Amino acid sequence: MSGPLLKVENLTKHFPLGAGLLKKQAPVVRAVEDLSFSVEAGETLCIVGESGCGKSTVARLLMRLSDPTAGRVLLDGTDISQLKKRELREWRRRIQLVFQDPYSSLNPRLTAGQIITEPVENFERLTRQERQALAADLLGKVGMAPEAMHRLPSQFSGGQRQRLGIARALALKPSLIIADEAVSALDVSVQAQILNLLMDLQQQMGLAFVFISHDLGVVEHIGHRVAVMYLGRIVELAPCEALFAKPVHPYTEALIAAAPVPDPTRVRLEVPIEGEVPSPVNPPSGCAFHPRCPLAIERCRMEVPSLTPMSDGRVVACHVRVPAPGVSATLAQAS
Ligand code: SF4
Repeated sequence: MSGPLLKVENLTKHFPLGAGLLKKQAPVVRAVEDLSFSVEAGETLCIVGESGCGKSTVARLLMRLSDPTAGRVLLDGTDISQLKKRELREWRRRIQLVFQDPYSSLNPRLTAGQIITEPVENFERLTRQERQALAADLLGKVGMAPEAMHRLPSQFSGGQRQRLGIARALALKPSLIIADEAVSALDVSVQAQILNLLMDLQQQMGLAFVFISHDLGVVEHIGHRVAVMYLGRIVELAPCEALFAKPVHPYTEALIAAAPVPDPTRVRLEVPIEGEVPSPVNPPSGCAFHPRCPLAIERCRMEVPSLTPMSDGRVVACHVRVPAPGVSATLAQAS
């Protein structure tokens, strides 16, 4: 099949807050606004942003755990946001989720073997031997011994439990894994092991990942491309190396400047970012970042900037840094 594995077009999700008696229209939380991106087979697209930027809502929409208000999610060309329940069940085999919290995402009463083979048994009946062979194979893929299949989740460390979560996600041989803050509950050394495991599995199995994280260190380690979200919208989407070497959007710049730098020789930019993320119920007009942006001009208050392609393959939404075609930077500053 040609074309990207995953294509997201104008994806939007609003949550109504409930109307008052005298209000005609209920206020809405604008969690995700007009998101478009694609993911190729074997690629890792990272989605970053502060908490409340909408990235976990994107994960739920991609898994169809929540229905979009508008837009489409195409997997191999099929719009999964329109599938009926029964058709969706088959397509769910292709997309799996690795949860954030390995402590609460595993049923404490089931053995590791039962946990990781359960997704397959939801589709087909396995004999005892088939179940054991599958469990041993999946455990092997995540670097665990076959004997582990007889143990309960409480008998594993946090890192081992996350390996079990990954083994369970692999059981149905998916082509895409959504990892929502998949290593944020783990110690730093264990984080590195799990990230390396995911990268190895990607190479061996040609898996694609949508990796959602607030941790830029993790994203820099694992990502091929990075989408930066602010208040429900993508503001910059770029190849990972280019984004970290030279962020273009003022928000990306501020995020990278605020992240801890493990390398003492690396110079950190001084980019102040003040204030809190505004409420998605009542987002600022124009560019939603304008109340916090040191570069904001009058136009930023009036007009939502559109994502504009740059020569190095990234897209950026900023009136000042990347004026839309036909508007020069000087004009944009002056408007
Ligand atoms: Fe800042 Fe304006 Fe660019 Fe938004 S559009 S990031 S407010 S300069």
